[in-house]
Amino acid sequence: MPEPMSSELTEALSAFASKDTILIALDFDGTFAPLVDDPEASRMIAPARKALENLTTLPGVTIAIVTGRAIDSVKRVAEPLNEWFLVGSHGIEVLSPGEVTDYETPWLVPGDLIKDFEAVIAAHPGTRLEQKPFGLALHTRGVEEQLARHAEAAAHEVCDAWGEELVVRTGHGIVECSIQDATKGDGIAEVRRRLNPTAVLFAGDDRTDEDGFAVLGEQDVAIRVGGGETIAPYRLDDAHAVAEALWFIHDKRASVDSGS
Ligand SMILES: [Mg+2]
Repeated sequence: MPEPMSSELTEALSAFASKDTILIALDFDGTFAPLVDDPEASRMIAPARKALENLTTLPGVTIAIVTGRAIDSVKRVAEPLNEWFLVGSHGIEVLSPGEVTDYETPWLVPGDLIKDFEAVIAAHPGTRLEQKPFGLALHTRGVEEQLARHAEAAAHEVCDAWGEELVVRTGHGIVECSIQDATKGDGIAEVRRRLNPTAVLFAGDDRTDEDGFAVLGEQDVAIRVGGGETIAPYRLDDAHAVAEALWFIHDKRASVDSGS
């Protein structure tokens, strides 16, 4: 069982739930879907799903999923409801409710860039290419260290040769480039612009979620899930704790709506 919520968080959630209109924005992987080895096998836990479905029916409540995954991938693993906003590709793809139905992923990475990355992969056995609508990633996890370093250096060379318009991110076992630059903060700001809610809650578990916390204001609630340094004032342990917090908001909100 997760730790009980701190009294500070309970207070913040009560205040949030009583606001006129609220946006509940959530990262997906590691936030209400536990991390798994196969990203395609990632699913939100049942109590979180149920809470979100119930929250969706309440007046003045809107849900958004905010993820680094492409919308194409969110559709498969999150099975989002039509009423939800979807922010994919770290804030590049922003879909209002219903737009996902007819959404065609724009696969915009230039063919020559893909070919250059494929050449790097071919020269470094065991490395893998991930194609995203706005970028490419070279994965080196599990590859022998020296080979991995060579591959990563080769990928950097490709990106450098490509020029300034490419945004390059390096992580553990990954070199990623994108033809557009955006953050989860940009995505949340865009949803806020379209919806104009009284307050926003955002919960996430990773470094890129800090960009989301950074665009929140005093009336909003920022929650870091799990460990790690954060600018968020509140924390929850894991997906089950997130589900519990969602139910807490639901029950508060439902009691307000019924006038009790
Ligand atoms: Mg995450």
